[in-house]
Amino acid sequence: MAVTEVAQSRRVVTEIPGPRSRELQERRAAAVARGVGSVLPVYVARAGGGIVEDVDGNALIDFGSGIAVTNVGNADPRVVERAAEQLGRFTHTCFMVNPYEAYVEVCEALNRVTPGDHEKRSILLNSGAEAVENAVKIARSATGRQAVVVFDHAYHGRTNLTLGLTAKNMPYKQGFGPFAGEIHRMPMAYAYRWPTGPENCGPEAAALVVDQISKQVGAENVAAVVIEPIQGEGGFIEPAPGFLPAVAEFCRANGIVFVADEVQTGFARTGDMFACEHEGIVPDLIATAKGIAGGLPLAAVTGRADLMDAVHAGGLGGTYGGNPAACAAALASLEAIESDGLVGRAREIGDLMLGRLRGLAEKHAVIGDVRGRGAMIAIELVKDDRSPDPETLARVLSYCHSQGLVLLSAGTYGNVVRMLPPLVIGDDLLHEGLDILAEAFARL
Ligand SMILES: *Cc1c(COP(=O)(O)O)cnc(C)c1O
Repeated sequence: MAVTEVAQSRRVVTEIPGPRSRELQERRAAAVARGVGSVLPVYVARAGGGIVEDVDGNALIDFGSGIAVTNVGNADPRVVERAAEQLGRFTHTCFMVNPYEAYVEVCEALNRVTPGDHEKRSILLNSGAEAVENAVKIARSATGRQAVVVFDHAYHGRTNLTLGLTAKNMPYKQGFGPFAGEIHRMPMAYAYRWPTGPENCGPEAAALVVDQISKQVGAENVAAVVIEPIQGEGGFIEPAPGFLPAVAEFCRANGIVFVADEVQTGFARTGDMFACEHEGIVPDLIATAKGIAGGLPLAAVTGRADLMDAVHAGGLGGTYGGNPAACAAALASLEAIESDGLVGRAREIGDLMLGRLRGLAEKHAVIGDVRGRGAMIAIELVKDDRSPDPETLARVLSYCHSQGLVLLSAGTYGNVVRMLPPLVIGDDLLHEGLDILAEAFARL
């Protein structure tokens, strides 16, 4: 399978978006539902490493990875080759009709690489939302309880149940209710905005959560606590130290299933294979998707065998879940993560980015906070009184886009610049991307 190498350098030869992209954008407006947005409407011709090439011949630096998906790089040749080989043999049988080895192999691999050495089982699905939703089904079935606890700033997907779990109204939830019941939202240990200061945040937030669950819900009614070990769409909020271990311990003591939503943080992204490892958390169930299969749609729930196997036969599944090509891609992607040492590479990326961004924050008061781990790094933009500054964010993003840097925003208040480069990006492109970002602040 011949894969043409994508040259690893930025090239801006037209306005961005260029004429061909603008043409496609017009066609799109007449054909595609308006509800689907695009951060940067340059239409893609091909992509690889840290570069996205568009239909006008521009080569953009990729600080998005298709939202933390192409951790091993876009169209990694090993992923492409293995998926193509599978496609040539069979495209689909439905695992619930005629099973195949690749599905089993992916589950074995997930059971091996996820935190904890206890006996595990996995199920494969199509999207992050579907994974989170199935984790809740499994937790409810295994515990016989109904309540689900989630957090401020959480994002868990766009299906009805996961919208209920998601915190932010606009644009995700607006007009789409009613949402499922028995969902209880708790405070998040958001160090930068904790009223009594970041050093008190972890223990105080944990105490508040324990108190609210006990008094408002009743621990004995809670099936699951669902939490992102670093919040993604919410603004890369890293729970203050001690918060996750305290919540996990409370769950353990009360028979509550601790569900880690590692859809965005998973697969080497944060400088650990999974973000839970940072504080030694072993989740009962873990939901994964995004970075799992090098860009092919796949998701999973992995967890304690006793919980996973509590569900009656036929209770879980789906037509496409664990599609054979996606499974082949996942196996190749996992091998690439391990053989290329991408966990270590994510840490290097984090060190490089955090160093430069902290320097930038010293020069520009609008950067209130620099945070994140590995290749999941964000800056929060604020006004003099620390209130969110989404207007400046829009200007920064717009300049970066015009210079050929794919950059995303995040945050409940839309004031966070988030950076999610592929883990195979070179240091030169990282520096160049950060130079563009620095120039954006210099021009404000
Ligand atoms: C993206 C995301 C989801 C939803 O995944 P989809 O594949 O878009 O359904 C769920 N949880 C987190 C933390 C995510 O980042």
